[in-house]
Amino acid sequence: MENVIIIGTGCAGYTAAIYTARANLTPLMLTGTQPGGQLTTTTEVENFPGFPEGIMGPELMMNMQKQSEKFGARIEYTKVESVEKRVDGTFLVTTSSGNFESRTVIIATGAAPKHLGLPDEHKLIGRGLTSCATCDGAFYRDVPVAVIGGGDSAAEEATFLTRFASKVYLIHRRGELRASKIMADRALANPKIEPVWNSTVSEYLTDAAGEVRAVTIENLVTGEKSELELKCVFVAIGHVPNSGFLTDDLVDKDENGYILQNPGRTSTKTAGLFAAGDVADHYYRQAVTAAGQGCAAALEAERYLADHE
Ligand code: NAP
Repeated sequence: MENVIIIGTGCAGYTAAIYTARANLTPLMLTGTQPGGQLTTTTEVENFPGFPEGIMGPELMMNMQKQSEKFGARIEYTKVESVEKRVDGTFLVTTSSGNFESRTVIIATGAAPKHLGLPDEHKLIGRGLTSCATCDGAFYRDVPVAVIGGGDSAAEEATFLTRFASKVYLIHRRGELRASKIMADRALANPKIEPVWNSTVSEYLTDAAGEVRAVTIENLVTGEKSELELKCVFVAIGHVPNSGFLTDDLVDKDENGYILQNPGRTSTKTAGLFAAGDVADHYYRQAVTAAGQGCAAALEAERYLADHE
């Protein structure tokens, strides 16, 4: 019987592991299919406090892994299939490599950015294709870039990118944004943002080095195709929280699948079950806020265990 099982090894999961391991709870971490989480798909991270020169995303995650293992966290490379609360108050976690039992569970499975689903799209991530303007915008100074999407994320990212890029194409499949009025108005009033309405990207075009150099745009009304030269595409068509393996009797979720935490806490409607990071947060979605929630979940789990000796 484990004290704590942490599902997910991104910033939230590793931070929860560091804290629970230092509290002598010897946490067991279950990685899921993307050990290290979303930061392993980025390049340089310049906004994680403590690294004035920046740090590569994969290196930051390796450091977090080492730090958690140093204090006794154990890592199992497996995919969680289900979590069940048993009548005695403990949890049964079923995975692709066997079952685990625990007195508490921290869900830190993150969210996955949605992509267009074009062939070989994933190979371009970090090579002119990204889903995070905050992370990668500063690498594209004085060059044209594009944002795909019409929601608040797309409007916000497009506006943010005007600080760096020479021009920001805002490519949306409809004739108007779905973003809140204030954010849409702000984006469309920005002279550096050029909307490309009723259009979709049908192809990414790369240079000899394999970096994105242009996209093929397809107008969905006229069917006309054209080429748009740019250096980076920011896909902002939403995220999918990795919460599908959790049943409704265990956690409440919002209409997009994000886990609902108790107000001001990482606890959920099930005692002993905590949620931290992007699987429960569609608003901030930053490495450091996920880490903060991982810390909070660890402290809450520790107190729960002390109260249920
Ligand atoms: P979203 O509101 O779901 O918008 C996704 C956008 O992507 C929509 O415009 C959608 O088009 C488009 N889209 C989806 N699938 C597509 C596809 N396959 N190809 C092309 N376009 C596609 O997602 P979000 O903007 O990430 O926002 C998520 C939540 O976070 C929202 O509740 C939002 O209000 C919130 N948020 C708030 C802030 C803020 O207040 N500062 C900032 C960011 C996000 P359609 O319009 O045609 O459906």
